[in-house]
Amino acid sequence: MLDYRAGDDIVAIKDHSQGIYKKGDVFTAHELKRNSCGCIILVDIGLKSDRRFTQCPVCLTNDEKTDNIWWVEARAFRKLLSKSEEEDLADVLAEVFSEELISLN
Ligand SMILES: [Zn+2]
Repeated sequence: MLDYRAGDDIVAIKDHSQGIYKKGDVFTAHELKRNSCGCIILVDIGLKSDRRFTQCPVCLTNDEKTDNIWWVEARAFRKLLSKSEEEDLADVLAEVFSEELISLN
């Protein structure tokens, strides 16, 4: 399940196959939709494309495009937490890590 909706700031959790975004890049989710074959959810992160087809990575169906948006797979992103929430998360992870080190000693 996606943890964000249109209008949220999102962060890439993996690199795009053609390199148009990289893990850690931050975007705004402009719009979400299911692709026409229904396999995946797509997100508009503000990138443009002049290709006439979008290929589904699951069933390889070619989808004729009616816009110039470069739709990308929505599951490659998660919601970007606020800065303080991200720092809390980093603190929690660091604590868990140091506890593991202590228990190893
Ligand atoms: Zn498909």
